[in-house]
Amino acid sequence: MPCPCCQGALELFGRRRRSQILGSGGKQWLLIRRLHCVDCNKIHHELPDVLVPDKRHEASSIEQVIENRESSSVSADESTLNRWRAWFAWWAPYACGCLEALRQRFFLCVEASSSPTPSALRDLGRYVGNAGGWLARTVRPIANAHLYVATRSAWMST
Ligand SMILES: [Zn+2]
Repeated sequence: MPCPCCQGALELFGRRRRSQILGSGGKQWLLIRRLHCVDCNKIHHELPDVLVPDKRHEASSIEQVIENRESSSVSADESTLNRWRAWFAWWAPYACGCLEALRQRFFLCVEASSSPTPSALRDLGRYVGNAGGWLARTVRPIANAHLYVATRSAWMST
């Protein structure tokens, strides 16, 4: 994998452990590789699919709640669920802007079509599709480009 900022070469810089809350309520540990770019000197954290940088819960749980899925069985209290919805309402337009900027920068093959009734979810879907895993597909390129803005410290997250 080349550096997402400058396409330079990456070298392994270390690892760090992070815990994550699963949809079932259980906890799992992730080992995240830290990579150093020998060209632009940036440190990157290899982001696993299941992770949103400033969230304690796995991406698929947050995704279910934002989609308001009937079958959602995420074990988190109502205030957490409401925080995710509020976060997404704030974050989705920003994420769309990031994806649009990345699309122009890297000439990504993204169909940018206008939708008659705009919604945050639909806007994001134009870039990453609506199939399961869309939240991870949104977060990853943004985090890789060092554009992810956390609402608060990654270690005190919701
Ligand atoms: Zn670089």
